[in-house]
Amino acid sequence: MKSTIRKNTYKAIYRLLNKVSPLSSDCGELCSAACCNCGGDAIDEEGLDFEMGIYLLPGEEKLFSKKETWLKWNVENAEDYEFPDSWKGKVYFVRCKTPPHCPREMRPLQCRFYPLAPYLTESGDLRLILSPVELPYRCPLIDDKIPLQRSFIKATYTVWKRLIKDPLIRDLVAMDSKELRKNKHELVEII
Ligand code: SF4
Ligand code: SF4
Repeated sequence: MKSTIRKNTYKAIYRLLNKVSPLSSDCGELCSAACCNCGGDAIDEEGLDFEMGIYLLPGEEKLFSKKETWLKWNVENAEDYEFPDSWKGKVYFVRCKTPPHCPREMRPLQCRFYPLAPYLTESGDLRLILSPVELPYRCPLIDDKIPLQRSFIKATYTVWKRLIKDPLIRDLVAMDSKELRKNKHELVEII
């Protein structure tokens, strides 16, 4: 899939997000790193097994050799999954083999944003919300609405502002946001 975001831009994004975290302390201590440790097979609402993992954003794979010993790689076809119609060809899905331990400076973007998620309003404005995705674990930052560090919110917003300039990524955020509106999902807006 053709990403308009260059490798150096992804590198700069990683560097910026290396400097911030949701809390000044390690939030993993609140929950035994629940979002990292759910990497095995999990059970969804219909009782079916599914594999927890992380989708890389289009072009993010350029930062990896795909030989990293701490990651298991799956390459999938975007057309086979619920991605925007503009997504054609390969998408990269990774699972980490040693959770909650990984080279911190190389953890994928999805790990860095959580518990925040991007949201595009009907008029196309970017907001950050608490992740509305149903997951088989409890995140205290979401459930207990623990205030997040301003620096983390600001850096995450800056990064999403840049990411949605890429048409594929904007299509993804627009699709997810539309789905949330359709389902009348209650949104917790952070910025
Ligand atoms: S983001 Fe939430 S689930 Fe993940 S380690 Fe922090 S508190 Fe736990
Ligand atoms: S890559 Fe790192 S931060 Fe992400 S789920 Fe795995 S252990 Fe956690």
